[in-house]
Amino acid sequence: AELPADPELKNEIRQVKNTLFSYVNPAKPSNPELIHASEEVVALVGISKEEIHSDEFLNVFSGKDILPKTQPYAMCYAGHQFGNWAGQLGDGRAINLTEVENNNQFYTLQLKGAGKTPYSRTADGLAVLRSSIREYLCAEAMHYLGVPTTRSLSLILSGDQVLRDILYNGNPAYEKGAVVCRVAPSFIRFGSFEMLTARNELKNLKQFVEYTIKHYFPEIKGKPKEQYIQFFQKVTDTTRGMILHWQRVGFVHGVMNTDNMSIHGITIDYGPYGWLENYDPDWTPNTTDSQNRRYRFGNQPQVAQWNLFQLANALYPLVNEAAPLEKILDSFIIDFEEDYKIMFLNKLGIFTSSDTDDKIVKGLEEILQLSETDMTIFFRNLSQIKKEDSVEQAFEKIEYAFYFPMEIKDKILDAWQKWLSVYLKRLKIETLSDEERALKMNQINPKYVLRNYMAQLAIDAADKGDYSLVDELFHLLKNPYDEQPESEKWFAKRPDWARTKVGCSM
Ligand code: AMP
Ligand code: MG
Ligand code: MG
Repeated sequence: AELPADPELKNEIRQVKNTLFSYVNPAKPSNPELIHASEEVVALVGISKEEIHSDEFLNVFSGKDILPKTQPYAMCYAGHQFGNWAGQLGDGRAINLTEVENNNQFYTLQLKGAGKTPYSRTADGLAVLRSSIREYLCAEAMHYLGVPTTRSLSLILSGDQVLRDILYNGNPAYEKGAVVCRVAPSFIRFGSFEMLTARNELKNLKQFVEYTIKHYFPEIKGKPKEQYIQFFQKVTDTTRGMILHWQRVGFVHGVMNTDNMSIHGITIDYGPYGWLENYDPDWTPNTTDSQNRRYRFGNQPQVAQWNLFQLANALYPLVNEAAPLEKILDSFIIDFEEDYKIMFLNKLGIFTSSDTDDKIVKGLEEILQLSETDMTIFFRNLSQIKKEDSVEQAFEKIEYAFYFPMEIKDKILDAWQKWLSVYLKRLKIETLSDEERALKMNQINPKYVLRNYMAQLAIDAADKGDYSLVDELFHLLKNPYDEQPESEKWFAKRPDWARTKVGCSM
């Protein structure tokens, strides 16, 4: 390898200095069983469909066998967690198997939950079935929604028991262990660079940044310093694009620590994430963040900028000049707000521009919160409104989105009627016909997202050995913008039992 590696092959937990990665062996699962594989991702990395059910596939992607001529490794990175410097963090439970090139694209194949590495700190390096199903399904769902993300190749039961909780009576609550193989151009994070700068390993920093640019950003050219600045600009741009998509589909990551930020601007690390159901910018699915709500839906753009600021600090020793980095950082929110406004208007079916647009956006953001209103259902059903509808007809079309329809009276109803009447007037100046507008809106506003309760139902069945719901949701979410009449039951508000968050990070 071109980069400095840990000379010792041992999984023992330690601080690993002067190193970008450590060679490790995945833990051998006692009885691996394939639950699911994504045929599209399998093809992407150059494996044929017929191989999915082979022993080799099962053994390689469960960590049992190592592919010939490969040397699995865990990467060394640090990060800021919830705004605080946390030092060396990973890869505590991720092991890169190898990198493949297919159709001129690089793919790193990484196992999550295949045992301890030098970076596991106090934990076991394993993953439970429930968190693995959540990661496996959500990453693919995000991809089909058009959101940049890591991909899921396979979901495999390890056959081992994993301990996460002790019950109130003191008994251990063992859960089934699982391994997900996920795929990305690379798994380099903001925290990978932060680690080197914090340790003042500036020679490694320079080498690593140059390696990253050469391999993953070959379009970047020029003098070294200009290249580093361009690299920062690229990461800023792709990160901005990713966050814009999150806000569009109502995805809340939940743990936007700098070690969970990919330099490719792709969504990485599906832990306690959640989907906005009732539109609430203050909502976070992460119960450990319920006080500060740092990672709440409405704060994701600001947090992304804060994280980029940490990346800028990490790159600073190479650039030695603050102004160009600051300029890029400053434009992040300005550019984001511009993009956001257009995106939000597009969700409303507004594709031209007019002076009243700011008022329409702000007004809607306010009334969506007057009473619990399901974000996905609201925007999807909005496309049924016709230019010639009366306010009453328009209201009927969005009514299904309210969690408590009985509450929509007096002041709230009044606010909705006012907004709808402005909206109907605004639609009249759109050049597209009702049908054309609805078609376009339905490419932007998904019909089906992986609501927390849906993942939970799949988890409960899988726990009993029934993987049919994992497969059903996988296929449903492959076409999130299409009408799927046979699956209409998944176009529904969260049921009452799922009001408080279900699912978990570990
Ligand atoms: P996260 O907040 O999920 O990104 O976790 C932060 C870091 O903790 C990860 O980068 C891992 O290195 C480590 N980690 C999380 N869960 C485990 C685990 N079960 N075993 C070992 N390390 C873990
Ligand atoms: Mg992580
Ligand atoms: Mg995690």
